Amino acid sequence: MIGRVLGRVDRIGMAVLVGALLAGSAGFTFHDQVSAAAVPTRILVSPDERIALQTQTRTAAMTSSVSHVNTRAAESASGSARVAVYLEATEPRTSEIPVNSAVVMTFSQPMNRSSVETSFTISPAVDGRFVWSDDFTLRFEAFKLGHATGYQVEVHGRSLRGVPLSGSRWWTFNTAAAPPDVVAPGAYAINVPILTYHYIRVNPDRYDRMGFALSVTPADFAAQMDWLAENGYHPITTEDLHTYLQGARGLPSRPVVLSFDDGYADFYTTALPILRSHDFKAVAYVVSGFVGQARYMTAAQVREADRSGIEIGSHTVSHANLATASSAASWAQLTESKQFLERLLGHPVVSFCYPSGKVTSAVAWQVGAAGYHDATTTRFGYSHTLGDRYLWTRLRISGGEPLDQFAMAVRGAS
Ligand SMILES: [Zn+2]
Repeated sequence: MIGRVLGRVDRIGMAVLVGALLAGSAGFTFHDQVSAAAVPTRILVSPDERIALQTQTRTAAMTSSVSHVNTRAAESASGSARVAVYLEATEPRTSEIPVNSAVVMTFSQPMNRSSVETSFTISPAVDGRFVWSDDFTLRFEAFKLGHATGYQVEVHGRSLRGVPLSGSRWWTFNTAAAPPDVVAPGAYAINVPILTYHYIRVNPDRYDRMGFALSVTPADFAAQMDWLAENGYHPITTEDLHTYLQGARGLPSRPVVLSFDDGYADFYTTALPILRSHDFKAVAYVVSGFVGQARYMTAAQVREADRSGIEIGSHTVSHANLATASSAASWAQLTESKQFLERLLGHPVVSFCYPSGKVTSAVAWQVGAAGYHDATTTRFGYSHTLGDRYLWTRLRISGGEPLDQFAMAVRGAS
């Protein structure tokens, strides 16, 4: 045990020195001025002051790391068990970081996990989860970082031996910008393929022809998303499309909407990681009464999808056929599902999708009266206007089609 600790101490001393030496070239800044009492003082710097500060603090950091190594050597010599605890490495700490990056901290000693997690802060605040590789390494996986945002991360906590973390404990990074809006607003109509997906899975029953026609395999789905990325497509949400047609914003080049009906669990387990890897937006139409049932997303999964940049739309309370429902029943389906999702997410839910595409003009009118901005059908088409926003058409991806057929459908519609 002692041998392991000593081995690590040597390595840490080197890592701190090498880290300090590399600092200038990597744009690395120690923001904590390490004082004699090892109490960091936070300094806010303007970009102009930063270079001067980097030079000063790098020197300070090198000096302090050397003194820490000396302290450790003394501790080791006296056989003391109180080995100082440092952050050996942190990332990211540069610019233009992709918004799907994880924040990773490597500590010099095994850490008390809860003390680290409760002390961790990222500002501006962002939802995410903690994943420990082992007691030395913690990843904070943000559901989604903001684009073109400066983040400050800070961590404290203590080792398993109860020694508080010392040395530099905060750092900054900033994220890459979103794809630029190049399609100028103001058009009356725009061609945007709205693709319809249901299950992203290997159909479990090969004799279930209905299920087969609703299932895109994870491999096919990943290949389709790769194709969209390689060909310069930019997934947007239906709310983005609505805002564009109102003339309030532009759109990125080659816009496409990826929509997922019914709120199946495999949207969360299979589609979402693939979408996140590309920084792709999408729309998930959730049946509010099915949330938490077998095969469907749980409330926590719906909330995480929302925090990951997925627009959550309503697909009624019980997947009801609104075309045959009474006016009162249809109104209840539209408003109760909206309220349920808004309470779950904490913000307005403005997009809707008709179950099985069943809609009448009276139902479409109700959708607008209930406060939705837009609604999609199962009818084929890809040209959309503000006037037909409660009857937007889509392209169905049934599953099993070869990639070139998928590519032809998307190209033909955009
Ligand atoms: Zn449906």
